[in-house]
Amino acid sequence: MTKQNNVLITGASRGIGAETARLFADKGYSVCVNFKSNVKAAESIRQDVLARGVDCILVKADVSKPHDVANMFETFDRELGELRVLVNNAGILRQQSNMVDISEQRFSEVLNTNVVGCFLCCKEAVKRMSKLNSGSIVNVSSKASISGSPHEYVDYAASKAAVDTLTRGLALEVAAKGIRVNGVRPGLIDTDIHAAGGEPGRVARLEGIIPMRRGGKACEVAEAIFWLASGQASFVTGSFIDISGGL
Ligand code: NAP
Repeated sequence: MTKQNNVLITGASRGIGAETARLFADKGYSVCVNFKSNVKAAESIRQDVLARGVDCILVKADVSKPHDVANMFETFDRELGELRVLVNNAGILRQQSNMVDISEQRFSEVLNTNVVGCFLCCKEAVKRMSKLNSGSIVNVSSKASISGSPHEYVDYAASKAAVDTLTRGLALEVAAKGIRVNGVRPGLIDTDIHAAGGEPGRVARLEGIIPMRRGGKACEVAEAIFWLASGQASFVTGSFIDISGGL
C-alpha cells in the first residue's frame, strides 16, 4: 500500500473542509473528500485537488450513519491505503431560535451529525492508527462550545462542547499509542453555514464585536488544522486552537 501521506476530511465539499482539502493537497497529501449530498461541489473540489498532482477520491456518506461511515473507511483503505490523518469537519446548524423553540427531533439531528458523526469516524480511525502506532486526528469544534450561542443555536453549541470533551478524552486514551487528537475552535468564518441558520450575512453583522474587526476565512482555519495534523505539532495532543480573531 502507498506510503504517501493521506487524509480523510469529512464535509469537504464546501467551506472549511474544502479549503482544508486544497491545503493538504498543496502539501502533497492524497485526499479523501467526504460529502453528504452536494455532488457538484464535491466534484469541483476533487478537480482542485487533482490539479495539485495528488490522488483524490470522493466518498458520499452521511457521517451520522454507522453503515455509511464503515463503508467510507473501507473505501479509503482500498483506494488510498493506511490512514494517516482524519479531519472531523462535517457539521450542521439550524435556524436561529431560542432553546425553548428547538424541537427534540432537531436537537437529535444536530447531535447525531456533529457528535455521533465525530465519534463514529474517530473510532474507525483509531482502529486503523493503533495498528500503525501513529496517526493524527483533528476535530473541528467551535467557539460556540464556550459561548453557548444563546438565542441562536444552543443545540449546536452543546454539540460542540461534546466534541471538545470527546477530543480531550480520546487524546488521553490513545496518547501512548502514538496517536494525537486535537481540536480547532473557529469563531465567525465566512461560509455557507450561516445561511443554514437563516442569516447569510451574520459574519458581516457581527464584525464589530470581533477584536480584529473582521470575520475569518476558511483558509485561515485550514492552516491551523494542517499544523495540528502535521509533524510540526509532534508534541501536541489534547489541545485546541481558537481561530476567532480574539473573540
Ligand atoms: P458548510 O460550509 O455549511 O459546509 C458543511 C460541510 O459539511 C459540507 O461539505 C456538507 O456536505 C458537509 N456535511 C453536512 N452534514 C453532513 C453529514 N451528515 N455527513 C457528511 N457531511 C456532511 O460549513 P462550514 O462553515 O465549512 O463548517 C465546517 C465545520 O466548521 C463545521 O463542523 C462547523 O460547525 C464548524 N464551524 C464553522 C464556523 C463558521 O463560522 N463557518 C464556526 C465554527 C465552527 P454537502 O455539501 O454535501 O452538504
